[in-house]
Amino acid sequence: KIYAADDGPVRALDGVTIGQRKREFLSILGPSGCGKSTLLMIAAGLIPASHGQVAVQGERIVKPRTDVGIVFQNPVLLEWRTALGNIMLQAEARKLDRAVAEKRAYELLGSVGLNGFEHKYPDQLSGGMRQRVSICRALIHNPPQLLMDEPFGALDALTRDQLVLDIQRIWNEARMTVLFITHSVSEAVFLSDRVIVLSAGPAARIVGEYPVTLPRPRDIAEIRLEKAFHEIHRDIWASLRVEVQKAYAMGDG
Ligand code: ADP
Ligand code: MG
Repeated sequence: KIYAADDGPVRALDGVTIGQRKREFLSILGPSGCGKSTLLMIAAGLIPASHGQVAVQGERIVKPRTDVGIVFQNPVLLEWRTALGNIMLQAEARKLDRAVAEKRAYELLGSVGLNGFEHKYPDQLSGGMRQRVSICRALIHNPPQLLMDEPFGALDALTRDQLVLDIQRIWNEARMTVLFITHSVSEAVFLSDRVIVLSAGPAARIVGEYPVTLPRPRDIAEIRLEKAFHEIHRDIWASLRVEVQKAYAMGDG
């Protein structure tokens, strides 16, 4: 991906080729500014690649995909709509059957521990609760793929742990394909089937690929006692660290 900017072209990603299996939980790690959000937006069909292409089950993507749910770092909820109302906005935009979608919205809110918060407005919810609402909104149409761009980036550590468990449970039940962008090596290892590390920009490329074969479901406390967890965590961290230092030396991150 090459962006046209005022002071010349910005080469964001270069020669990044990723194949994702159906139902796979794939995480992308990389220093800030390397092109992770760019990658996610290309995968969603929201922006075009300058070269190369995205295909889903062999079909080339040329416009924004409707078969995905997207969760951004900022939950972007409408302040004048309740939790339920914000989720139903997606259902309305997609012209889903109202009764069916509302039942699903209640179920989703229940599955992330938000029973009883359906009629609260965003300013009555904590940051973690708002992000949980945005996850429910992304899932209202049962998308076969969920794209998440640092969804827990703005939250404190304990809230993040809780949300990571919610995501694991949702994925265990629905087994949708997940593309998860994060800054956190332990979140990536805990949740994923595979972790990909991108290099520092400009022209970020893939510098490491790590299958994670730890048995599921994974327990957030127990996994931290496992040798296999620490080994893969250490390897990923080692390759990520080199890239973070490069990005830092270039004044980014
Ligand atoms: P990340 O999500 O890994 O932090 P981004 O995908 O947001 O990285 O950005 C990758 C690179 O592309 C950065 O150098 C960023 O400044 C640049 N970039 C992102 N969006 C645009 C844009 N719309 N126009 C020009 N440059 C952009
Ligand atoms: Mg980003």
